[in-house]
Amino acid sequence: MQGFGRVSTRPSRPDASHHIVAHPSGWVSEAKVMNPVELLNYGNKHLGEKKLSDARVLLEYCLKLKPSEFYFSEKIIKTCKKNSYQKLLDKRKNGLPTAYITGETEFMGIKFYVNKNVFIPRQETENLVEEALKLIRFAHPRINSGATTTRHSLLAILDIGTGCGNIAISLAKYLPNAKIVATDISKNTLKVAMKNAKLNNVSDRITFLQSDLFQSFPTCPLPTYDLIISNPPYIKNSEIKKLQKEIQHEPKIAIDGGKDGLNFYKKIVPMSRKLLKKNGFLMFEIGYHHLQKIKKIMETEKFRNIKVVNDYSQQERVIYGQNSN
Ligand code: GLN
Repeated sequence: MQGFGRVSTRPSRPDASHHIVAHPSGWVSEAKVMNPVELLNYGNKHLGEKKLSDARVLLEYCLKLKPSEFYFSEKIIKTCKKNSYQKLLDKRKNGLPTAYITGETEFMGIKFYVNKNVFIPRQETENLVEEALKLIRFAHPRINSGATTTRHSLLAILDIGTGCGNIAISLAKYLPNAKIVATDISKNTLKVAMKNAKLNNVSDRITFLQSDLFQSFPTCPLPTYDLIISNPPYIKNSEIKKLQKEIQHEPKIAIDGGKDGLNFYKKIVPMSRKLLKKNGFLMFEIGYHHLQKIKKIMETEKFRNIKVVNDYSQQERVIYGQNSN
C-alpha cells in the first residue's frame, strides 16, 4: 500500500480500530482496511492545511458518497479504492484544480459541469450575479412581485464570454422572466455551457452564440438588451505566468486580458452602448487595480450612475453603469 503511510494509529471512531494495524515504522499494513474518516485524515495530511476541503471533495468523489453520508458511512475501503484516492490526491498536489478532477463545481448554489475547455467559476463572480439580481429586481419591480409574466415584462440579457454558462444559467434560474443570449468565442466551451443549461432546465430561455465578442451578431435589426453582463479575461498577460499553478491549467483565452488587462473592456463598452436599451445596464467583474481605468472607459462612452461594489474581501469587484442613449 505504497504512499498510504503515516496515518494516525489512533482511530477516529472507536468501531474503526480493528480495521487498521500500524507497522512499527508507522506505515499502515497493506492487508488492513480503512474507513472514510481515516482516509480523509490521510488526504488532509497529504494535501496540507490549505486544501482540507479539496481532500474531502476528492474523497467523496472517489467513494461516491454524498457530503451528508460521509461521517455515517460504514463503507470499508479496500486497497484499490485507497489507490485511486491516492491518484486523485497526487493530481491535486501537482496543481490540477479539484473541479477539473471531479468534473463539477458549484456556483450560486447550482451545480455546473466543467472541463479543461472552461474557466472554473469563482466565488467572487457570485458578487456580480448577486448585484445583477438586486439591480434587476429593483429596476423591474414587477419581477420581484411575482406578477404574471407577459411578453412585455420579459427581460433581455446578454452575457459575453459565458464560459461554462455560470452567469447566464444562474440568472435564468433566478429570473424566470429573463431571456438570455450567451456568447463565447470557443465552440468547445459552448458545448459545456449548453450541457449545463440542459442540466438546469433553462435551455429554452438561453440562446448560445459562438462569437468573438460582437462579431457574429446580426447587424440589422440590432437586438436591444436590458442588461449586458460580463466577466471578461482581465489578467495582464505578463502576469499570467506568475500566478498559481492551478490557473496554468485553465484556458489562456479565458484569462488573458492583453498587455494592460483591459482589452475586453475597451471593446465591450463602446459596442454595448449600441446594443443596450436606453437606461439599460452594463455590468462587469473587474480585477485588482483596474477600477479607475474601466470607470474612465465607461464615462467616455457616456455611461451614467456608475457604481462600484466590493466583494467579501473588500476588493473592488463589480462595476456597473446605465446607458444614457
Ligand atoms: N463567464 C464565466 C465566468 O464568469 C467565464 C469567464 C471567462 O471565461 N473569463 O466564470
